[in-house]
Amino acid sequence: MPTIRTSCPSCRQQVDVAASRCAMLGGPHGDPVAYAFVCPQCGEPIFRRVDPQAATMLLAAGVSRSGGEGNPLRPTHPENPRSAPPLTGDDLIDFHLLLDRADWFSHLTSPTASGEPE
Ligand SMILES: [Zn+2]
Repeated sequence: MPTIRTSCPSCRQQVDVAASRCAMLGGPHGDPVAYAFVCPQCGEPIFRRVDPQAATMLLAAGVSRSGGEGNPLRPTHPENPRSAPPLTGDDLIDFHLLLDRADWFSHLTSPTASGEPE
């Protein structure tokens, strides 16, 4: 698989990224405007602008358009989806009422949070 040699603006290292680990991002008209990858050095998600000529070369090297299965920024979830009942209208109303409380955040982050307003 071809690699893309680029630089990371976060850690300022020159890095080699497999083309399969890059994703081409499109503009509002679908034309490629940037590519993205996760820096192998610092782990930061990086977005770099490209001109049309560079975009053509990256696509020819095997960079996939975003949204594809090979998109490195696409979460691999749900390999283990949580099982839970679907959200209902009552759940939404309960959540709305919970957000009116001053302690809504600590309530949601407490280990015993059930989602039920008290
Ligand atoms: Zn980096």
